[in-house]
Amino acid sequence: MLSHAYIGLGSNLDDPLTHVERALGELDRLPLTRVAGASSCYASRPVGPQDQPDFINAVAHLETRLSPLSLLDQLQALEQRHARVRQRHWGPRTLDLDLLLYDNQCLHHPRLRLPHPELANRAFVVVPLHELAPSLELPGLGALATLPGWQDAGDLRALLP
Ligand code: ATP
Ligand code: CA
Ligand code: CA
Repeated sequence: MLSHAYIGLGSNLDDPLTHVERALGELDRLPLTRVAGASSCYASRPVGPQDQPDFINAVAHLETRLSPLSLLDQLQALEQRHARVRQRHWGPRTLDLDLLLYDNQCLHHPRLRLPHPELANRAFVVVPLHELAPSLELPGLGALATLPGWQDAGDLRALLP
């Protein structure tokens, strides 16, 4: 069955935009999967320690026939491929791929929670997600437009294409 999934992409290495753009191509080449849409890229201040570079964030809409856990496996394998390049340095992450939503599923698996537990609170997720799917309803959370993450939307900078 064809499912709709939304992926949150993030990177704060010295060329984070390249990591995010490459990852969008790699997502499109995953088995049984295609990228049906991608948001603009946004720059955001890091969550937690501030003594690291800004993040570049985006959200991708996937159409996939992979199960949620198979998709997570694929996302983690992509993260590994990006991390390997920079592993000699201990530092900010090259690529983070969070599975934000998978159809209307709610899941509490040890490896996978759906919707992503921090989705609602993060401007760098709700703003690009809204760009792709403004009228989205989130299972257990309600309308995307009403989530608390909008409070910090002013801190995001949309990057011009
Ligand atoms: P956060 O989850 O707050 O954004 P993070 O992205 O830095 O933090 P990671 O170190 O990338 O966290 O992931 C930790 C674990 O979270 C992974 O091993 C994965 O199994 C688990 N996980 C649970 N739910 C999800 C999800 N929806 N998407 C991605 N990983 C998830
Ligand atoms: Ca994350
Ligand atoms: Ca993650």
